[in-house]
Amino acid sequence: MEINQKAPAKINLSLDSLFRHSDGEHEWEMVMTSVDLADYVRIRPAAHISVSTDSGFLPEDPRNLAYQAARILQKEAGITDGAHIHIEKHIPVAAGLGGGSSDAAAVLRGLNELWNLGYSKKHLAEIGLRVDSDVPFCVYSETALVRGRGEVVEPLGELPSFWVILAKPKVSVSTPTILRAVDDTNKGAAPDTERVLSGIAHTDFEEMVAGMANVLEAVTAARYPEITALKQRLTKYGAQVAQMSGSGPTVFGLCAKKSRAVHVYNSMKGFCKEVYLVHTL
Ligand code: ATP
Repeated sequence: MEINQKAPAKINLSLDSLFRHSDGEHEWEMVMTSVDLADYVRIRPAAHISVSTDSGFLPEDPRNLAYQAARILQKEAGITDGAHIHIEKHIPVAAGLGGGSSDAAAVLRGLNELWNLGYSKKHLAEIGLRVDSDVPFCVYSETALVRGRGEVVEPLGELPSFWVILAKPKVSVSTPTILRAVDDTNKGAAPDTERVLSGIAHTDFEEMVAGMANVLEAVTAARYPEITALKQRLTKYGAQVAQMSGSGPTVFGLCAKKSRAVHVYNSMKGFCKEVYLVHTL
């Protein structure tokens, strides 16, 4: 028996840090959605937990978030069975697209099936939070308002239809470094989350776009000027909004019309090696 799970990349339509908890962790308020750029995770029964990947950049040991998810679920369920997990990697690593978290979430969904655990998504999300703050969202992988430390995931239903142009500068960003660096003096402008939610509720693309922002963008862009340069190009070529995803460095542009998105995508290819034209899921 082999279980196949798609592990889609995420983007942050809005990202706000409301305050820091006493342990230094952020209280998040983020609107997130998944796009059709995905890793593929294959899981088969085995005596022990092991991970392999077709990527030269990823650890195939307990440092892999997919391995950690499997181990935590195994302990939680009191299971002695193992599993071999193979990750076919397509999502750029350390890019702000939540690739590792999505692989971990795919492992939780897949092992829930393989081991016949019957856990709800809510239960898997709680377990996922122990791996990384983006894992609970990735367990659902649908448009959601995410709060708390990442554990409160409220699905929002259908998004207005739009296309996404992802552009990843050549740098890798360490999420923990950015999260430690952000404070009230260097945070970027906050999103109007209510407006983003209202735009989504009324299937109003313009309204959604008007509320978007990412408070981490100013912090990462201060270290990597290519982020601002790519954003400027995205809007110059016709994207209706351009923003950084997560802690970066990937930036994305949104276009309501496919023809416009294709034009932006083709224009960006001359300036950035890693560009993707994707739709939301
Ligand atoms: P986020 O937006 O959630 O912060 P990210 O897209 O910036 O995530 P990832 O691609 O998830 O970053 O990788 C972050 C770190 O996790 C990298 O240093 C990478 O080596 C490590 N990692 C461990 N397992 C994985 C995995 N399965 N896929 C990607 N990265 C992994």
